[in-house]
Amino acid sequence: MQQISGKVISRGVTAGRIFYYDAGEIDISRRLIDDPDAECARFDAAVIKADEQLSSLYRLILATSGEENAAIFKAQQVLLSDQGYADQIHEVILNKRMCAEYAVSAVSDDIAKMFSEMEDEYMRERSMDIKDIKDRLLRVLSGRSHDLSHLSDSVIIASDNLSASDVAGLDKRKVLGFICGHVSENSHAAILMRAMNIPALTGINIDKSLNRREAALMPKEGCVILDPDDKVLLKVKELQKAFEEENRMLHELKGKPTVTKNGRRIRLFANAGNPSDIDSAIDNDAEGIGLMRSEFLYLESRELPSEDSQFETYKAAAIKMQGKPLIIRTADLGSDKQPAYLKLDKEDNPALGLRGIRICLEHPDMFIAQLRAIYRASAFGNISIMFPMIISLEEVLECKKYAAEVRDALKKEGIAFNENVRLGIMIETPAAAMISETLAKEVDFFSIGTNDLAQYTLAADRGNSSLERINNARHPAVLKLIRMTIENGHKGGAEVGICGELAADTSLTQELISYGVDELSVSPAFILPVRNAVIN
Ligand code: PEP
Ligand code: MG
Repeated sequence: MQQISGKVISRGVTAGRIFYYDAGEIDISRRLIDDPDAECARFDAAVIKADEQLSSLYRLILATSGEENAAIFKAQQVLLSDQGYADQIHEVILNKRMCAEYAVSAVSDDIAKMFSEMEDEYMRERSMDIKDIKDRLLRVLSGRSHDLSHLSDSVIIASDNLSASDVAGLDKRKVLGFICGHVSENSHAAILMRAMNIPALTGINIDKSLNRREAALMPKEGCVILDPDDKVLLKVKELQKAFEEENRMLHELKGKPTVTKNGRRIRLFANAGNPSDIDSAIDNDAEGIGLMRSEFLYLESRELPSEDSQFETYKAAAIKMQGKPLIIRTADLGSDKQPAYLKLDKEDNPALGLRGIRICLEHPDMFIAQLRAIYRASAFGNISIMFPMIISLEEVLECKKYAAEVRDALKKEGIAFNENVRLGIMIETPAAAMISETLAKEVDFFSIGTNDLAQYTLAADRGNSSLERINNARHPAVLKLIRMTIENGHKGGAEVGICGELAADTSLTQELISYGVDELSVSPAFILPVRNAVIN
C-alpha cells in the first residue's frame, strides 16, 4: 500500500483500477532503421490494430449516439485501408529506410495538406480525418494502444497532462476518477472534470507503473492510496456514504430561494460548457445559466459551425431553460482552445495573444454568424449575450455595433428575435476592471472571470500547475479588483456577477456577498453547496 498526496480538483471518492494514459508528444523524428521489411510489418500490424479500434468505436458511438455520429469512424476505416496510402508509407520506409512513425507522419501530413487545399468542402473535411488516422497510428506504433475515447471498463484515469479536449471526448460512464500530474486547478481540463462531477486529484507523480494498479481516490483527504487493503476500501465505502449523505442534505435545498440571512437575494446560476451541463444545471436547481461557454461548438466541429447549426443548439438550450436566464458567451477561442480550421498562427505567448473577442473582431463573418444565431434563438427563451476578454471601451462599442447591425438585418429579413436581449461583458483583464466604471455605462451586466483575472493580474499562467501557489484568485490584488468592479458596475448601472471558479469557493461566499455581488455562476455540482453557503 502506498499513499500519495495531491491537490483536489474535484470532490467525491472512488476506488478502482487505474488506466494510465500518456498524452505526451510522440517521437516522429527521422530515425533510420536497419530492417525496412520488419518496419513495414510493424506498420501493417499498426494498421490492423487501428482498424480494430475504429470498428469498436463505430459500434460504441452507433449504440450511444446513432449512425450520423458513428459514420465518421466508418469513413476513417475506408481511408485507413486505402492501398495507395499504405504504398506511400511502405515506400518511405523501404527507400529512405525511415522509421514507421516518420513515414506515417510525413505521408499523412502531405495528404492532409492536399485535401485541405481542395475547393470541395467535403474533400477539405477529409484532411481532418487523415490527421485523426495519423494520430491513431502513431499512438498504436508507440505502444499507446488506447485513447481515452475508447475505454472498455470503468477506470481511474492517471495521466501527467490532460488537455480539455482529452476530457471532453470521454464517455463519463467509463470514468471513476482522475489522478493527474500537471493539470492545474483553473485549467479548462480541470473545469470540465468538476463539471462532470468526477473525483479528481492533481500534483501527483504519474508514470507508466501505475497502469492497472488498484487505487482508492479520496480528493477531500487530498490523497490517493495505491493497492488499498480491505481497511482502506472500507473507509472508501464510509466516505462514499458520508458524501452521499452530504449530497442528500444539499438536495433538500432544491427549490429553496438563495437569500442571505439579512434578506438579500443572490442569483445562483450555473456555468455550462456543453448541452449536457444544462441538464445537470437544471438537475441541480440552477436559477439560470450565467456562462454558456459556446466554444464547445467550435471545438467539437471540424469546420466553422454554421449559423443554422448554432441556432439549433442555442434554441434547444433556451427552450430547456424555460424562461430562466441563459447568458451565452460569444466564442472565446485562441490560447488553449484552438480549432484546427481557424489556422491560427502559432504564438509565443498564446494567453497574451489573439484570443477571445480579439479573434471575433478579426473574423467579422464568424462573429456575425454567431450573433445572428444567438439573436434568432432569443425568440425562444430568455437569452443574454456576453463578450469575453474585453480590455477597452472601443472593443465594447465595436461589439455593440455588430449586435445592432445584426438586429437591423434580422428585422429587415422579418426574422423573429427579442429586441431587448441584454448585452454584457466579461471582466477578466485588469484593464477592464480598471475602467469598469466607464464600461458599465455601455452594458447591462458584467460577469467577472476570476480564472483569467487572476492569471493576468498575477502574471501567472493558469495552465501551469507549477505556478499554482502563485496563481491564487484569493490574492488581495484580485479581491480588490473584484470589489472595485462590483462597485463601479453598480455606479454605472450594470449588474455584476462572478463566473470564474472563485465563485464556487464557499469559504469566500459571504465576503463576495459583502462586496455587493448580484450573481454567482458556478459549475452545476457547486450550485447547492454555494446556496448552502449563501443562506447559512
Ligand atoms: C474566467 O476566465 O474566469 C472564465 C470564467 O472564463 P474561462 O474559464 O472560460 O476562460
Ligand atoms: Mg476566461
